[in-house]
Amino acid sequence: MILEKFDLSGKIALVTGANTGLGQGMCLALAQAGARVAGAARRGCEETAALMPPGSFHAILADLLGPGAHETILAEALARYGRIDILVNNAGIIRRDDIADFTERDWDDVMQVNLKALFLLSQAAARQMIAQQSGGKIINIASLLSFQGGIRVPSYAASKSGVRGLTMEMANELAPHGIQVNAIAPGYMVTNNTELLRADPVRSRQILERIPAGRWGNPGDLAGACVFLASAASDYVTGITLPVDGGWLAR
Ligand code: NAP
Repeated sequence: MILEKFDLSGKIALVTGANTGLGQGMCLALAQAGARVAGAARRGCEETAALMPPGSFHAILADLLGPGAHETILAEALARYGRIDILVNNAGIIRRDDIADFTERDWDDVMQVNLKALFLLSQAAARQMIAQQSGGKIINIASLLSFQGGIRVPSYAASKSGVRGLTMEMANELAPHGIQVNAIAPGYMVTNNTELLRADPVRSRQILERIPAGRWGNPGDLAGACVFLASAASDYVTGITLPVDGGWLAR
């Protein structure tokens, strides 16, 4: 039956950036589909834990800017749940400045969290999934700037284009192991990440006018794409970056 293919009962998911925003929304969606979730973030995940169904969430504290964070996160998830079926690489940061003023620090930090840590955690999770011999799902959170250039965000654009390329690369290599690797490219969503944009009345209006759906997205808008890509319903889908953007890229 088709609905059974979306059922995540018995599955273990690991989600980074789980304390707020899109990561929190995806934790909820995965749990509502039946999964138990290990959620990692730098700050505590109390708010997410309070929203989740009882017994479905385990919080992990880790800073992806620090060395070895991917190992800590995976080890703690395995200590709690014993296996991993789904990895959602959601944690991400953005730094804005003109190219002439952009600092090496703002380059390095964004590349570290958005791309290098994403690769290292995917690699660690893939090793575990291969050892489990039951396939798996890796979902990377990309961006419209995986397709477009943006402005005043050089490290963010480079990292998110890298996420799209790496998603295809990992999809190719991991397909023989029954592991599908896909990405979701959110459009303009109401989270901390876009606080500065939304606070600027001119930019905020310009963005809204360009979204065919006529509204900004919210964390719940990723639920369907996330559960689809985490479930058996997408077993023959791999290497894609799926925009969830209210039509922005179609315009
Ligand atoms: P957000 O509210 O700022 O959340 C970012 C998450 O990443 C937080 O949970 C944060 O944890 C975590 N994180 C950041 N740096 C970290 C680090 N060094 N170590 C561990 N965790 C870290 O932003 P969001 O909008 O939900 O963004 C989630 C993802 O969606 C990001 O990859 C972002 O690039 C992408 N995205 C967002 C939009 C949008 O419009 N909002 C559009 C396209 C793509 P702490 O709070 O503990 O730091």
